[in-house]
Amino acid sequence: MKPHRAAPAYGRHPWVFAGAVETISGSPKDGDAVELRTGAGAFIAHGLLNRQSKIHVRLYSWDADRPLDEAFFRDRLARAIALRHDVLKLGTGGRAAYRLVFSEADQLSGLTVDRYADFLAVQFTALGLAQRRDMIGRLLMELTGAKGVYLRTEKGIGTLEGLELRDGLLCGELPPHELVIEENCLQFAVSLAEGQKTGYYLDQRDNRAVVGRLAAGRRVLDAFSYSGGFGISAARGGAVEVECVDASEAALKLAYRNAQSNGFAQVTVTQADVFGYLEKLAADGRKFDLIVLDPPKFARNRAAVPKAMQGYRKLHQQALKLLDPNGLLLTCCCTGLVTQPDFEETLVHAATDGRRDVQILERRGPAPDHPVSAACRETGYLKVILARVT
Ligand code: SAH
Repeated sequence: MKPHRAAPAYGRHPWVFAGAVETISGSPKDGDAVELRTGAGAFIAHGLLNRQSKIHVRLYSWDADRPLDEAFFRDRLARAIALRHDVLKLGTGGRAAYRLVFSEADQLSGLTVDRYADFLAVQFTALGLAQRRDMIGRLLMELTGAKGVYLRTEKGIGTLEGLELRDGLLCGELPPHELVIEENCLQFAVSLAEGQKTGYYLDQRDNRAVVGRLAAGRRVLDAFSYSGGFGISAARGGAVEVECVDASEAALKLAYRNAQSNGFAQVTVTQADVFGYLEKLAADGRKFDLIVLDPPKFARNRAAVPKAMQGYRKLHQQALKLLDPNGLLLTCCCTGLVTQPDFEETLVHAATDGRRDVQILERRGPAPDHPVSAACRETGYLKVILARVT
């Protein structure tokens, strides 16, 4: 490493950027295990090299005696699984669904694994781990007893990492076209092969439960609903009407079916761009008592952050117009580059703009199967605010 660039690596941050690397000795290929050393030759960590990525080396082990072999990865996976099984007790029941491995948050930079009932969906966002996918798939089967592991790829990752991957079965049995998971006593259909991301947004589990507890008697708008997680939780909590809005027809078909199969006739779905639709609802004089805003990521790089902030402010302004006094707002920000205070600021501005009194009741995050690594705070991407608007 270059002098003065080693501090993050000593702090166990797993990313070593190209600019921090002074020289590479020997002739390792991309994906090979390498040792990170100071200019004077002192060991810092074991990692995997990828010159094609801005993250030149991803670090996994800070113990010189623990190289990145199969035993090491078995141990790391077992540690991630133990959090969900033994600590969080999420492993019970054949329809359980939760995040089993969360990349940097589980010291496995570039590997995400979601459990859906008896099957696992994996995403590789690091070349080095993707090259080891057969071993990782086998270890996951062995450690979880899953029937099969299905591979999903993230858009854009091919160019970022120089990865050539295709969706499909990694090992074991092919999952059924659609399987059913249970969340907070509700059933949701999930397609590992065709759903967004790996099929379902598991990070919002506990926030959906909060919405369920607050929804009785309320008219609810679930904006950016995907397969209806929030809206259906609200219906179960006693909402009198629930409107799910999303741009994706496939998502709404699934949301509608999920509402029906859980027995909630008060749920309707609308295909629209949320920004335009909220304006239309306001023009039509529609009112709600509980609004959920859960938009997709608005910025992928720093240059896009100001525009993202405008987007959140606009959504907040529109939502406040649609809420009757005493209304509740649950608003979410999964843009990692927008911090909690900055996100909150957009709500504060909207309150001023709309001359409304806003009380923040809770500042929330994802469910704890999506932990935040103290060494890599970028893992704390999801910010959620629950507020009352009068
Ligand atoms: N709330 C959902 C997850 C939302 S993910 C849940 O609990 O599962 C974000 C969703 O926003 C996706 O379903 C995507 O189709 C939708 N989306 C993205 N841009 C949109 C837009 N401009 N208008 C409406 N929906 C949009």
